[in-house]
Amino acid sequence: MSFTLAIVGRPNVGKSTLFNRLVGKRLALVDDQPGVTRDLREGAARLGDLRFTVIDTAGLEEVTDDSLQGRMRRLTERAVDMADICLFMVDARTGITPTDQVFAEILRRRAKHVIVAANKAEGRAGEDGALEAYSLGLGEPLRLSAEHGEGLGDLLHVLMPLADAFEDRAVAEAPETDVTITEEEAEDGAGEMRWPTPDRPMQIAVVGRPNAGKSTLINTLLGEDRLLTGPEAGITRDAISLAMDWDGLPVRIWDTAGMRKKARVQEKLEKLSVGDGLRAVKFAEVVIVLLDAAIPFEQQDLRIADLAEREGRAVVVAVNKWDIEDDKQDKLRALREAFERLLPQLRGAPLVTVSAKTGKGLDRLRDAVEQAYTVWNARVPTAALNRWLAGMVEAHPPPAPQGRRIKLRYMTQAKTRPPGFVVMCSHPDKMPDSYARYLVNGLREGFDMPGTPIRLFMRGQG
Ligand code: GDP
Ligand code: GDP
Repeated sequence: MSFTLAIVGRPNVGKSTLFNRLVGKRLALVDDQPGVTRDLREGAARLGDLRFTVIDTAGLEEVTDDSLQGRMRRLTERAVDMADICLFMVDARTGITPTDQVFAEILRRRAKHVIVAANKAEGRAGEDGALEAYSLGLGEPLRLSAEHGEGLGDLLHVLMPLADAFEDRAVAEAPETDVTITEEEAEDGAGEMRWPTPDRPMQIAVVGRPNAGKSTLINTLLGEDRLLTGPEAGITRDAISLAMDWDGLPVRIWDTAGMRKKARVQEKLEKLSVGDGLRAVKFAEVVIVLLDAAIPFEQQDLRIADLAEREGRAVVVAVNKWDIEDDKQDKLRALREAFERLLPQLRGAPLVTVSAKTGKGLDRLRDAVEQAYTVWNARVPTAALNRWLAGMVEAHPPPAPQGRRIKLRYMTQAKTRPPGFVVMCSHPDKMPDSYARYLVNGLREGFDMPGTPIRLFMRGQG
């Protein structure tokens, strides 16, 4: 696969600005106040023809006590270890500081390959600072202006030969587009089931209201404090993603900003964060909707679950903080009832009770995720489908609007992820929703496809 580039440097040198530019989405938030970006954040970067993974790191600080600073430093060291190439960013305008020196030392010891970039060097500004950066002893500094997009061509030139060394000039992945179904595509065997691999991990988004326990869940899964939780407000402001092996399942988990959080967050940041949450749903294959057992199925939860369904994602509902529920039996019954009533479009989707804090139930959550993903990828052979269709029609014939009976001729599965079916019939525009629902629910039961969104396309000529 292609390589991983970590952008490291002390706070405020412009790391997030460069990250944004490379990722091309507003995934990272930029703020004048130092230390806004405290977590590792990964994105799919693109520069010229190069495709690679970029990691944005916490500000490097020389403080080593166990404060937040200390933890940030450890996170950064981890990023350095994860990266094939480190882009060490300094501020050309301020010149080299003692902090820069300290981290130059870390990079010298730890990094596989370092590129020094003197940022904020737009125009002729910062020429001295850029020269000073030679003194770091890490090679020729690149002059960069992340904000104005200057020097990116030079960066590309430096990266190219390195990228070659990491082989694979990663082919741009074709973005998943909406399906237009032709009959050829509707043939069986169009697209094999892709089981996730470490190179192509299952994309999971964890979404839910602030304080539902998203960060805690991911921390517990990771078994290490790569994501920061704790009393500091507003720590997780971005959607960030982390790849991991979940008991044999290669996954990439997107943590979304606690929507609507937290004390110090300005409105600008807040809006972006909610957008990031929604964007994570778009990236995801499986969406874990995390509810707080004490306040389940609130308006916001329903909206996000519905969004996930409409976006065609596999959905798993996880009810968190189950450790503090007393009357578990009654509560579970009530939850299932509420789920059926409030989210009929997700009928049969898994509902799992968990404790993110203690880790209880997380093995069941993993199995539910795998199951939902499997169903989402399900493919039904055409012959079986048409035998089934004949039975459905016999049991309950389609209506005859204005005396003209709708004839269902033939059916085939045109796509997966989520499953989509084409029904060839007469008067497709007259097909009532109730009959379409009858077919969808029948498909769920007949072919064991609970929970997953199912798409039905009516086609006239057939
Ligand atoms: P980080 O903390 O290192 O990630 O830094 P940010 O990306 O948040 O940037 C810190 C500040 O520097 C912001 O106000 C940016 O607008 C500014 N900045 C970033 N890149 C440049 C640049 O190339 N030139 C100038 N003049 N300012 C920049
Ligand atoms: P986020 O905003 O969704 O990321 O939520 P956090 O992970 O920050 O958790 C919010 C609060 O709920 C924290 O005080 C956690 O300690 C607490 N919490 C999270 N999961 C559990 C759990 O399974 N049980 C209990 N009792 N508390 C939890």
